[in-house]
Amino acid sequence: MAEYPASAAVGAVPRSGQVRIAIAGGGLRATSVLRLLSDVENLSVVAVCDANRSAPAIRLADDLGLFTTTDISELAQMADLDLILDMSEEPSVQQALRSQRSPSIAVVTGHGAELVWDLLIAKKRSEEQEKIFVELQVAYDKIRSHERRLQSSKEALEKANEELESRLAEIFFTHEFFKALTNYASVEDVVSLMVDGANGILGAEISCVYLFEQKDWTLRLGASQGRPEESFQSIVPVSETILGAAFRDGFTQQSDVPLGSDFATWCVNPDDIRSQAALPLRSGESIIGVLIVASSTYRELTAAERDRLQVIGNQSSLALQNALLHEELERLSVTDRLTELYNHGYFQQRLDEELGRAARFGHRLSVIMLDIDDFKQFNDSYGHPKGDKVLQAVSAIIRQNLREIDVAARYGGEEFILVLPETDIDGALAVAERIRKSMSQFEFFTGQNNRPVTQTVSLGVATYPAHATTPTRLVESADKAMYEAKRYGKNQVRAAN
Ligand code: GH3
Ligand code: MG
Ligand code: MG
Repeated sequence: MAEYPASAAVGAVPRSGQVRIAIAGGGLRATSVLRLLSDVENLSVVAVCDANRSAPAIRLADDLGLFTTTDISELAQMADLDLILDMSEEPSVQQALRSQRSPSIAVVTGHGAELVWDLLIAKKRSEEQEKIFVELQVAYDKIRSHERRLQSSKEALEKANEELESRLAEIFFTHEFFKALTNYASVEDVVSLMVDGANGILGAEISCVYLFEQKDWTLRLGASQGRPEESFQSIVPVSETILGAAFRDGFTQQSDVPLGSDFATWCVNPDDIRSQAALPLRSGESIIGVLIVASSTYRELTAAERDRLQVIGNQSSLALQNALLHEELERLSVTDRLTELYNHGYFQQRLDEELGRAARFGHRLSVIMLDIDDFKQFNDSYGHPKGDKVLQAVSAIIRQNLREIDVAARYGGEEFILVLPETDIDGALAVAERIRKSMSQFEFFTGQNNRPVTQTVSLGVATYPAHATTPTRLVESADKAMYEAKRYGKNQVRAAN
């Protein structure tokens, strides 16, 4: 019958708080128990016994410097021993321990020893699991920190990429502005390049260029980006909005445009704008326009972005000024200075073009020749400067009676000529009559006896193809008709024969 040595162990009280244990049996299991027990606190294995001197547990005990013996009786009688754990599974060993142990030594054998073995293994497993858990925890932390590092290097990479892209855009637009400068680009080309640049370099949601109009101190929309063109006011007085502020004060930024404020009324729907910045475009001492960037969200330009906006402003201003000068020169070369109508040379060119078009499309085209009546006498009576005012008044009245497609020019000293595309003789006669009537009713100033001074004109009209088919002949016909009007008493309109 198996003994339950665990109960025998009840009385074993450690003397120094340390339980001193000996192991009987030197097999592999005993070796494991020796190892496992040496990790347990408050326990120390002090001896191992096996009949075989070279059993594994004996060899390990020798290595650890423990007491070893081949005589089980010696173990059973050992002083200062609290417990013998019998791992031998030998009935003879069990028998010897039972009969020979000193009363102070508890013996755990049979099922008791198996239980100890199981408990030690369970403890070992749970320690291993704990260890694995801790290792997992450490590995997880490491992965997290790698992940964080990866994320931050990804962000750094993205930022560098963005920076690079905007640098590239800057170089691209610098090159484009330089090209515009050297290639005589039109004002239209330069301003649309500017809004593209604001978008490409700054990523601006909305951008507009407004050009300064000296004659009425307004800013006129030149180009826009980010919203349909109708979303922006086409004319803004220089005194108003952030455009005016930039014009007066230089670079202006509002990173928070309050609802209902009048800073953003350059936009048809100012509530669409939450932040904006405007930069005057300078050419030497004068300001030629304003570049504005805006956003429907709160957004403050960084110092770097402000610098970039300034770069766009500086580089494009030069190209813009150049284009403006070029357009002005072109305008002057085709315009008569006094009347601001086209000059004779430009009229000839346009008549050729328009007549060619009329021939191609089978349209009519009319020409009106106009000459001021008795103008020599007017000059003699009131002086040349007043005569010049008459020339300007004629020009203004002609302009009022023209359509977009018509061309009016000062033909000679006090003679004017009009080309009316897609107009037959009746239409042209009606226009001529309106001009004649307006002129005859226009009072220049008060002369002698408080009588208002007026000035009449005579007009001749000729139509392609009825009266002539070449430009020269058509002008001659209109001229002849105009002389007919003079001959028949002036202040009247005559059609060519
Ligand atoms: P008619 O009714 O037959 O046309 O008589 P007219 O006096 O108008 O015609 P004429 O050809 O004899 O004189 C044209 C005048 O127009 C002469 C010239 O002093 C005047 N004239 C031409 N160019 C200018 C100009 O630029 N300014 C002024 N003030 N007068 C001009
Ligand atoms: Mg004349
Ligand atoms: Mg005349």
